[in-house]
This record gives sequence, C-alpha cells and structure tokens, in this order.
Amino acid sequence: MSDASRADGDARPVGSDNRQAPKNFITGIIDADIASGKWGLWRADEIKPGGGQKPGAPKVCTRFPPEPNGYLHIGHAKSICLNYGLAAAYGGRFNLRFDDTNPAKEEAEYVESIKRDVKWLGGDYDGPLGGGVLFASNYFGRMYEFAQDLIRKGKAYVCDLSAEQVAQCRGIPQKPGRDSPYRTRSADESLDLLARMKAGEFPNGSRTLRAKIDMTSPNLNLRDPVLYRILHEEHHNTGGEWCIYPMYDWAHGFEDSIEGITHSICTLEFENHRPLYDWFIDAVNEGRSALRADASTHVGSASRPTRIHHPQQIEFARLNLNYTVLSKRKLIDLVQGGHVTGWDDPRMPTISGYRRRGYTPEAIRAFCDDVGVTRVNSVIDVGRLENAVRDDLNRRAPRRMGVLNPLKVVIENYPQGQAEHLPAVNNPEDPSAGTRPVPFSRELYIEREDFMEDPPKKYFRLAPGREVRLRSAYFITCTGIVKDADGNITELRCTYDPATRGGDSPDGRKVKATLHWVSAGHALDAKVHLLDRLFTTEEPGKRTGNYLDDLNPSSLSVARARVEPSLGAPAPDEPEWPDGIRRFQFERLGYFAIDPGGPAATSGGRSEAGLVFNRTATLRDTWAREAARA
Ligand code: ATP
Ligand code: MG
Repeated sequence: MSDASRADGDARPVGSDNRQAPKNFITGIIDADIASGKWGLWRADEIKPGGGQKPGAPKVCTRFPPEPNGYLHIGHAKSICLNYGLAAAYGGRFNLRFDDTNPAKEEAEYVESIKRDVKWLGGDYDGPLGGGVLFASNYFGRMYEFAQDLIRKGKAYVCDLSAEQVAQCRGIPQKPGRDSPYRTRSADESLDLLARMKAGEFPNGSRTLRAKIDMTSPNLNLRDPVLYRILHEEHHNTGGEWCIYPMYDWAHGFEDSIEGITHSICTLEFENHRPLYDWFIDAVNEGRSALRADASTHVGSASRPTRIHHPQQIEFARLNLNYTVLSKRKLIDLVQGGHVTGWDDPRMPTISGYRRRGYTPEAIRAFCDDVGVTRVNSVIDVGRLENAVRDDLNRRAPRRMGVLNPLKVVIENYPQGQAEHLPAVNNPEDPSAGTRPVPFSRELYIEREDFMEDPPKKYFRLAPGREVRLRSAYFITCTGIVKDADGNITELRCTYDPATRGGDSPDGRKVKATLHWVSAGHALDAKVHLLDRLFTTEEPGKRTGNYLDDLNPSSLSVARARVEPSLGAPAPDEPEWPDGIRRFQFERLGYFAIDPGGPAATSGGRSEAGLVFNRTATLRDTWAREAARA
C-alpha cells in the first residue's frame, strides 16, 4: 500500500510505538482490500464529531469483543493491541463491544474492569478513533427480526427436541446426522412458537430455534445449529426483557454487521465457524436489494430491505504462554479457590494483575508486537514478556536503594549524630533524570547476603578486613563483627575513607564490589512482595492433569525491607506515570512498583500495611539461568 492511500490519522497505533502497524498477514489482507476498494471510503456523515477518520480515506473498522464473564488476560491484550493497532495504522475505527449474549455468567463488575483494562492498554475506545462502548445485547431486537426473516424464508424452524436429543441427532463428523422431526414445521407455526418462546410461555430448554442448513455437512457447526435458547434469566443490560437469548455464532456476525466492522478478527478455533458466520448473513441478504457501494451499514424499509453489511472474519493464532494458564475458567478457579488474592493479584496473568505488579502498557504492547500475528499456534516463552518489561523499566524507571534483608553497619570513624546528603544518579540510561540526595550517616543497613565472615574464593563483597564501595557514597572496610549469644551476626563494624566521597578513590585504589545501602536513621519500613511465576512447569497440568498441582509454592514471599526516604512521597523529579503507579529499579535487586492496593490487597490494604512494593521483575531472567544449569 502506498503511504498516500493511508489515512493520515495522527493517533499512534497502540500495537506499536511507531506509526505503522507491524506488517503481518492481516495487514496484507487489508492492503489488498484497500487496493480493490472492497469496503469503500469514509463518508463525512459516518465520522462522529472529533473523529480521527478522514472523509474519502479507505474504511477499516475493527472491534474487540470480550464476553464480560471474567477479567481480561494477556491473551486478550494481544487481540486489543492488534485490533486497535490496525484501526490506528489505517485511520480507521475501533469499537469496544461487549459480547453479552449469555446472561448467566456475566456481571457488571467485569464490564467495568474490562473498560479500565482496555483503556489502560491504550485501546482508546472513546478517543478519536474509538467507536465507543457497545453492547451486543442492544441488538437483540434486530437479531430477533433477522430470525423471523429466516423462518419466513424457510431457513429456520422451532425445534422441540431437548439439548441431548439435538446433540444425538447431530452425530459425528464421519457420519451424517439425522433430521429433527420438527424440521418440516411450517413457517407460520415456527413464527408463532418463536413469539411464544419470547413471550415466556415455555420453560428453559423446552424448545430452540434452529437454522435449517445441512444435517450431513462434515462441519458439525452447519448441522442445523441452534440460534436461540430459552433462558429465564435476568440480563445485566436488558434486565427481564428477554427470556430467549441468541447463541454466539448467530449473534456475532450481526453484531459486526450492525457496527459496520470490516475485518472481524478472532482466534483460530473459530475458523470452522466461519462458514456459519457467512451463511447467516447471506441468508438474511437473500432476496434483498444491493447495498449502495459507498455504504457499509444500511437499514432498509420493510417493503424493500437493502442488504446488510457483510464483514470478513479473519482468524489468527491465539497467544499461549508457558508457565501460565490463560483460560478464563482456570483463572476463575484460581480466584475462587483462594490460590491467589483476587483477579488483580500481581501473580495473575490478567491485565489488572500485570498493572498492579508494575508492568507498563508500553511493555505489554512491545511484547505483543514482538510475538507478532500469525496463523500458526505456538507457545511463547513468558520470559519474553518479562524481558519486555525489563527493557521498558530499564529505560524509564528511576533508581533507588532498598535493602530487603537488612544487616546493620556502624561506621566507627563517622561522627555520631552527623548526616550528609550525597547525590545519587537517578537513571544512568537517561542523563536528564538527574540526581537525588541520599542521606548517609554513621549507622547504615546493607543486604545480609552482601557480607560473609568466611568468604569463598569468588565472593568479592564485604568480608572481614575487606574494602568495598557503597553506591554513590564511600569506600568502607569491615573491621569487626558483633554476634548475639547464638552466634548470629547482628552488626558489622566498619570504617570509611572520607577521600572516596562519591565512590572513587583519589589514589586510584580499586574495589571489587559496589553495594547498595540505606541510612538506618532515615530509611523507611516497607513491605515487599517478592513475586515469582505462579506455576513451576512450562505446561501447568501436563504431569497430573490438574494444573493446580503445578502451582509454585513460593510464588509470593514477603520481605520486611528498609528503603531510602525519597520513596515515601513522589519526588519532584520522579517521572509521572499516566496510571499513577510509581515504578522504580531498586539497585541490584530488580524492578518494583508501589502496590496500588485494591480489593485484594494483602494484610488489610495499604493504609494498615504502610509502604508496600510489588517486585515487577528481577534484573535478569533467573529462570533462564536455572534452565541453563539444569
Ligand atoms: P478464554 O478462552 O480465555 O476464556 P475467550 O475467548 O472466551 O477467552 P472472550 O471474552 O470471548 O474470551 O475474548 C474476547 C476476544 O479476545 C476474542 O476476540 C478472542 O478471540 C480474543 N482472545 C481471547 N483469548 C485470546 C488469546 N489467548 N490470544 C489472542 N486473543 C484472544
Ligand atoms: Mg469466549
């Protein structure tokens, strides 16, 4: 596609941090559609005020259609990035549409969490390219009319078989199925029965509306699929208005059609539903007059209806991650079984879990770009996601010091009661981030693991008689050890060299280690959640059939840390994160984010717990190192 034919929208694609969507087989399809003029051009009257689409530019409309029956996970992120990214790259439109056709499992809480997560990821559904928040349930009336239309055309019938009988008659792919005895029911009788189903005259499961397609098709989806079932159930949006609800396959194409979606992107499992997607729309369009070439959606009159828009379904490979479960059912089990503290537990592969853990939307988008879009199912190493967040935070997160397992150090030649503030570099990757003052005094904490009384050969950190550097401060030398009655080390005695202020010796003397530290009298107490992968095996459940057997017993450990005082309140030069979550690199320890709390906050939430950090990622991929060692 030439650049000239691409709508010149200003918005940047969410799926990529440069302007162009990464090329993949779907952009290939879209480019060809644009070249052939398949979907027509944007008309001014189709663009809402402030809309980012340009009149006369080729039309591209995508959507993200979650079912509000759980929180979104990282697999959904791939779909959001793809669909919004395409709309952005082609100056098109992106809809957030709730596929809320099943009343039983859907809750308003999920709707709110999904909106929040899509927005956070950058799927700007109510921005210039957004078509807004839409609900499939708002189309129930239209769908019902389409059903009546099919009955009148002899393409659908009310069937009195039970669900088990329907399944029995449907049979197996190798053998033709059997016709329902109700298949030959007259259109008038079916119309009447459908109206009475809708009016609530019949109990759940007693009747269905089915399409009359082909009971011998090798594709079972085409063996007279059910369009409507009776469900006396309140719906989060339509309340008690309906007691018949459309099936996914029946509903989905019409949802896309009504919204003028051009490219309806779904995962590969739906490939053998595509004939049905097309059959339903073709069946409605049979006998209707042609669409105007420049219109995508059209409401015809009852006497001379025009054809409805026929989007193209395109399938791509879903995201699978090792060490991770992504099916909503399993995620629900993890929450309800108390294996995690909630949907937003920072160990969960949900978008809200990643957010709480300190992941950035940029990192997730970069990851989605990195894994790309294909038609081949594969399992992606979760290490790539972890690396994406390391890369992003390495560039952007300010450095701070915190000590997870404190060991007291007394600098014997540093005056009692004195303190000084030493400048420490905020981000070596970003000189413009400047420095911050870090207090230094006679009593400090260092990491317990950074001292050994009797060090082995390759241990270069602090030991009796040895000199090391304290980051941004001084060289210190260990001169003594204080132990309790049980022989545990409780304190170290050290001296410092005032000439090494800032961390270098004027005489060129070298040390082999640099330690992080905090001033004991200035440091703040903090609770730190050391988070690790939730599962210990690449394919949870593979060994025993139960993925819960592979839960990592040490996916969460809690440290009582001491952290530098600048972490108490946002420093003036701290970067502003649009989601308000403060993220840092703790020198030598990893990336950490202040826990934003939430319903699932441990220990009664933040106010009671004080400062709480979640470890977003270690500095390096420790799992890869373990694997290499094994
Ligand atoms: P799950 O199978 O995890 O329960 P779902 O497919 O039932 O998820 P929906 O709410 O129906 O969840 O999905 C909304 C959209 O997200 C669909 O278009 C679906 O294809 C897409 N999607 C779901 N899981 C993945 C995944 N792992 N990778 C890519 N896209 C996904
Ligand atoms: Mg689904």
